[in-house]
Amino acid sequence: MRERWRHWVVAKHRERWDRRLRMSEIDCIFCQIVAGDLDAEVVHDEEEVLAFRDINGRAPMHVLVIPKRHVANLEGIGDLSDVVAKRLFEVASLVAEKHGVVESGYAVRINNGDDAGQAIPHLHLHVIGGERLGMP
Ligand code: AMP
Ligand code: ZN
Repeated sequence: MRERWRHWVVAKHRERWDRRLRMSEIDCIFCQIVAGDLDAEVVHDEEEVLAFRDINGRAPMHVLVIPKRHVANLEGIGDLSDVVAKRLFEVASLVAEKHGVVESGYAVRINNGDDAGQAIPHLHLHVIGGERLGMP
């Protein structure tokens, strides 16, 4: 009986958590881009990772690299497989190569949380280059 009760509690908790997760995905602009419901200028598309131009590019190259699975920030990176977590950086490098900025250099930046100015709560790497960059 105790065991059945425990299962019920776990199931309820998971149900509530899934619902919260789905809500955040519905509201999430980047999930909408992944789903094809919102247009973006895609520069690289593969099974688990997507790269598209930042709508408000602040350098000649300003691309966002995201996991297709909704993860809000670095604190959620454990929800991604090790392969995908690594792949985000490999795609950032591929994007830089595509834009011919590997030699000149580029920045990969994650704004995480309020103080960093994170506006979209879907983990993303800013890949920025094509001009001399400073540290903010
Ligand atoms: P952050 O402040 O790190 O959360 O960065 C969010 C970035 O997403 C900003 O640089 C925005 O310009 C960019 N952005 C917001 N909406 C879109 C969109 N629909 N397509 C492409 N980039 C976007
Ligand atoms: Zn999302």
